Amino acid sequence: MTEKTVIFEDSTPTVHAYWIQDRKESSEIKGTYDFLPSCTCSACGYHAERPIGLCPQCDAIMDAAGPAAALTEEG
Ligand SMILES: [Zn+2]
Repeated sequence: MTEKTVIFEDSTPTVHAYWIQDRKESSEIKGTYDFLPSCTCSACGYHAERPIGLCPQCDAIMDAAGPAAALTEEG
């Protein structure tokens, strides 16, 4: 037997986060927002051009459920 057993120590806990979609106030309909294709990591604030599976900065897995209230905020 020449196979080696390699034990990977999980030293860093897996972070689960979500993308906060960027938006800007609509210029056409007051009080509404236009959503942009870019987004921000909820864990570290990394700004990405588009939502991807992992945050390239903090390695968070982007599968957490974001707060729905943040998308329907009224002001
Ligand atoms: Zn991040």
